[in-house]
Order: sequence, then structure tokens, then C-alpha cells
Amino acid sequence: MQITGIEQTHLDGAVDGMFYPTWIPGYPQSTHELELFEIHTDEGITGHAASPSFAGGLQYGDQLSLFLTGEDPHNVEGILRKLDTVNLVGPRPWHLEMALWDIIGKDAGKPVYELLGAEPADIPCYASTGEYRPADERVDYIQARIDEGFEAVKLRVTEVEHIEMVKEIRDHFPDLPLMVDANKGWAVRVMEEETTWSLADAVAFARGLEEVGNVRWLEEPLPRHDYRAYGRLREKVDVPIAGGEFNNGTHHFREFAKHESLDVFQPDAALATGIKQGVEVAAMAREFGAKFVPHTWTNALGFAANLHTMTVAGSDWCEYPMEPPWTPDVWSFMLEEGFEHEDGYIRAPEKPGLGVELDEAVLEETKAAD
Ligand SMILES: [Mg+2]
Repeated sequence: MQITGIEQTHLDGAVDGMFYPTWIPGYPQSTHELELFEIHTDEGITGHAASPSFAGGLQYGDQLSLFLTGEDPHNVEGILRKLDTVNLVGPRPWHLEMALWDIIGKDAGKPVYELLGAEPADIPCYASTGEYRPADERVDYIQARIDEGFEAVKLRVTEVEHIEMVKEIRDHFPDLPLMVDANKGWAVRVMEEETTWSLADAVAFARGLEEVGNVRWLEEPLPRHDYRAYGRLREKVDVPIAGGEFNNGTHHFREFAKHESLDVFQPDAALATGIKQGVEVAAMAREFGAKFVPHTWTNALGFAANLHTMTVAGSDWCEYPMEPPWTPDVWSFMLEEGFEHEDGYIRAPEKPGLGVELDEAVLEETKAAD
């Protein structure tokens, strides 16, 4: 089998309202943008991949075709070496690797997790918020998620003072497992309204979380490359520390391991590693006594890639993005059928490859408009 070309399409999904993600301060989102990549082969099988996009996106499908045309998509290791070159001279390319597994699985008639030696598993979801909201505006949201079957919720904070919001939430929900994401690992610096935390800030906030109790992790309280500072933070506090969603390549995770930086490794298969290298990071985390709970917040194709990865890795939580108006319908708009949790649990699709089907009407409409 040979790759015959790569087709890139910029897709734009409607959001019913404005979404104010904490990671793009001052720049609310009224649409869901993504770059879709279709990897075509000479045997008529097409693999799909997607990356998040922004402000109309970067076009690099033609350049990728130059690197990948003629390659056998089963040669994941060889193609990863080529993607390392793309990473050197162009945009980070790890999302493309999911399309290889999509092709290999469709060719073999098997889901990706099975190709990688795992059996299906029901993974408990935590409801992942995307905005900072004061406690009184968050209580109804949390109750709704509990009623739907979720067993944990991840809150977003931007300021150290937001520990008060977390404490108020704890007063309302004394037993609910909480995660807290400070999103200080990286920022999309459009409006320059970002706030950063020092190590002392992170320690102070984490000590506040110790008082809150039953906090499963504090996520990205520091910049994503401050491996040593993460390690020092872990020495000072008892709350588990998570990070790594947007680090670039497996060597970053070796740094986290070397500096004993993290209790929870979170490489996103679409952003940080791809699926195969994600499984390798999971093994690294296990060796270090850490958990592996990847970030999933991109789009439904990225979610699928991460779901297969965590099925192989045996992750004990799955991040389920849910912050109306950013609902599963919004992050799955490009698929025929989105990812619905069942009573707070989710299972990787059992259909071949990634196990998802694109909504051809969305695709044709977009291509016709181009
Ligand atoms: Mg995060």
C-alpha cells in the first residue's frame, strides 16, 4: 500500500453563543475551527486526522504530501522519522500519525486499540470545563453533570485568588472528586491578557487545594518547559501535579520523568506525541509511578485518537470536554456520529481504524465553498 497524497481542508463549525476559554484570554470563540487531513492511498482506503486551528489556519497539506507520498502507511516508525523533520521545518505534525492508524485499522478490519494489543474498556469520564466561572455560576453545571453520571469535574482557574471559588465549590459538593486546571503551561497570546504564576504562587495555590481535599490533580500551574520547577513544586505539596498536554515530542516527557516533575502525564495524541508515542509515554509514566491521563480537548478526531491511546494505556480517567456552548455536538460537528458518554463512562469505537465516520455533507459543503 502506498500513500498517494494528502488533502487538507479547513473546517468551521458553528458555536451557539460565545465560548471564553481560559487558554485564549481576551479572545472568545464563536466558531470551532480545525484542519482536517485526509491521507489517501492507492488501495482506496483514506485515513483521517485533524489538528486544532485558529484564525483561518495554516495550509501545509501540499508540503506534507512531499514528505509522505509513496510511503507505506503501515510504516509508522519510518513515517514518524519523517514527521520529526516536518517538526523541524514546519508545524508540529503529531496529529497526522492518527491517520496512519486509521488506515492500518481499516485495512485490517480492527480498531486501533486492538492493533496495539488491548481490549475494549469502559473509562470513567470527568466533565472538563473550559471557562473560569464564579462558584454561584458553576453549581448548577456541576449538579447537571452529576445527574448525568459523571463522577468528577475539572474546574478552570486563572488567578491564585480563585482558590476561594474552589473552596466554595467544595462546600456545595463535599465528596466530589475535583481536578483543577490553571492552564499556565502555554497560552495563545493574542490579546496579551495572560496571567502567569511563579513557583511560590503555584505552591500557595496547591496548599489551598490540600485544604479543599479530594483533589485528583492540579494541572499546569507552571510553564510547560519548567521541568525543574515542577519537580520542586511536587516536593513541597501533597496534591498531585499534572501536565504535558502540549509538550512537543517524547523527549519532553523524559525531561518530566528525569526531574520527577509530574504525578499525571497528559500528552495529547493529537498535539504532543501521536498514538504510538503516547503509548510509549504511558509506559514511561508507569515506570515512574505516575498516571497517564491524556488531554483530549481538540476535536472529535483528536478525542478518538486519545481514547484509543488511553484504552491501550489503561487510563483511569477520560477528559470529556463539556462547557456549553462548547458541547459534544460542537467538538464533533465533523462526524456523522459524535462521542456520547453513557452514564459518565465512555468506550473507544469498535469499528475499524479510529472508528469514526466523517459527515460527508459538512465536508462537501466546505469543499464546494472553497
Ligand atoms: Mg489542561
